[in-house]
Amino acid sequence: MSQTAYSQQFGRELDVKQLLKLRGVTASIAQSDFDLSPGERDWVRADLLCPSCRCTGASVVLSDVVKPRGGNTRQAHFRFLNSDGRTAHTLGCDFYPLDDEPGLTRGVDVLFTADDRDTRVVRELVCKAMAIGALSRTDIFNMRAWFLTQRDTNSFVVAGTSAMVDWLFTIRGLPTYEALAFDPIHVGLPGFDAKAAARRHLAFLHKDLLAGVPRAAFDAPVRDRVKRLLSSHRGGRLIAMEPLRPLFDKTVTLGTLMVDYGALKLPKSRFDYFKQNAPSALTALSATLLFVSNWDLAAAFARFARIHGAPLPDDLTAGNVMGLNPFHDFSALEMARFIAALPPESERDYDAQAEFAAVSAMIQRAIAAAGGRP
Ligand SMILES: [Zn+2]
Repeated sequence: MSQTAYSQQFGRELDVKQLLKLRGVTASIAQSDFDLSPGERDWVRADLLCPSCRCTGASVVLSDVVKPRGGNTRQAHFRFLNSDGRTAHTLGCDFYPLDDEPGLTRGVDVLFTADDRDTRVVRELVCKAMAIGALSRTDIFNMRAWFLTQRDTNSFVVAGTSAMVDWLFTIRGLPTYEALAFDPIHVGLPGFDAKAAARRHLAFLHKDLLAGVPRAAFDAPVRDRVKRLLSSHRGGRLIAMEPLRPLFDKTVTLGTLMVDYGALKLPKSRFDYFKQNAPSALTALSATLLFVSNWDLAAAFARFARIHGAPLPDDLTAGNVMGLNPFHDFSALEMARFIAALPPESERDYDAQAEFAAVSAMIQRAIAAAGGRP
């Protein structure tokens, strides 16, 4: 579901509230279908396009997304369905539904509510940028269209199980940089620790695999997200993000510089590459500035400096258009791609605890042979 839709009649991107105002329609937010007349619904269907892939089939809906820290849980959204009642979005679209679970979104929507400090800061920057001509709606649309093509052309076939995700999660947590094959002679060293030695030995056994694991966040929420992607899309196709990695890296760098130099007052004030905690609106702005600067970091940052120093215009609706992060789900998609390339469960076991137990037993035997140490 998308927070905004592109109106062909009005020639701009609108959220539900703005649309209803322009159409002169009073709608009841208490009704899940907004109590719109059939004629108005037909107009919505015929006029509105997805802001990302430009598909048709729009309707206005209330989502059940539960926002953290309370707030309005019934946000107005646009939904795009084809005549079969399935999603009308293309695979690479920002709004292609990755989850079958109702109420889950891809986290690309930026809700421009007054108390949302992340997006207010970014929204003001976008409005300033448009006012001084440092960014235009065309630039933003071109960026989206470009990313859409990139994502549609790079995909992989989804394969793998939850057990494989859990296995990789544990193996990825091993001390990669201290990988060491166990040798019975280690037992005599005063700092020898059987458990740590087992983890280092396992890391050694998997060093080739660990070297190939994508450089991306892989915390518990990402792990759970990968499991949902696998179960929802097994045998289907998903976007391969790896070709976009150099651009993602630059986007993170520019975002960090913008926060630092601009002293941007964001609750999560620092990007962390491996936590991916950047507000999606900031990531979206960063990517757009780079896109219009031919991915030249210095040029994009100079553009940011000009924008930052510009006066704030009165009309802040122009900032709506920034609400998409082209790198959403980067980590989960990368991990899913990696898992899809692993040997299937029919060819090998994916049980990290069993592997750890086997290595521990081998070490315990060596300890016993050395005369027994704790
Ligand atoms: Zn779409």
